[in-house]
Amino acid sequence: MKIAIVAIQGNVEEHISAAKKALKEMGLPGEVLPVRHSGTIPTCDAIILPGGESTTLGRLMAREGIDVEIKEAAAAGKPIMGTCAGLVLLAKDGGDQARRTGQHLLGLMDISVDRNAFGGQRESFEVPLKVSILDSPYNAIFIRAPVITGVKPGIEVLASFDKYIVAAKQGNVIALAFHPELTEDFRIHRYFFELVK
Ligand code: GLN
Repeated sequence: MKIAIVAIQGNVEEHISAAKKALKEMGLPGEVLPVRHSGTIPTCDAIILPGGESTTLGRLMAREGIDVEIKEAAAAGKPIMGTCAGLVLLAKDGGDQARRTGQHLLGLMDISVDRNAFGGQRESFEVPLKVSILDSPYNAIFIRAPVITGVKPGIEVLASFDKYIVAAKQGNVIALAFHPELTEDFRIHRYFFELVK
């Protein structure tokens, strides 16, 4: 199994390490490849879009031609997981901020998002979260997190916090507002890699 981690900017090392540990836990042989340029994604079985700065990530993915490759992979049914800024990039509607700035989005999920939704002193926090695909709470770490403010039919809501949706799935595409790479609990990664098998 070959896993691509978009490695242009953001939480890249943490994602590489988490993906490797999760594969090991599952006893799956696999390669985890950091991707900075076009050419690699078409050879991979699944793609992870890390957190970071979604405006920068979107712009640089487009410049490198990685955006097109990710869209093709999604169309081919390959599993894709976006976390935090990655969630923003997966959305069809990036909210007012994205519209105002003409932000590059992949638009792979029928969701509307609001960037930096928790703002101010609640910028970063940790909370035990009920996630529908897991049998016990997951300690979710939110860092200047976006939220999902609207979903269209076809979206499966995986988790909510406060009045917001913070995790969702559409086909083989998963969006998380929090950071699964920052804990040692790899259940979400494992669920994601199961989609590849
Ligand atoms: N606030 C960032 C953005 O919208 C995301 C933050 C993160 O990925 N930790 O781009």
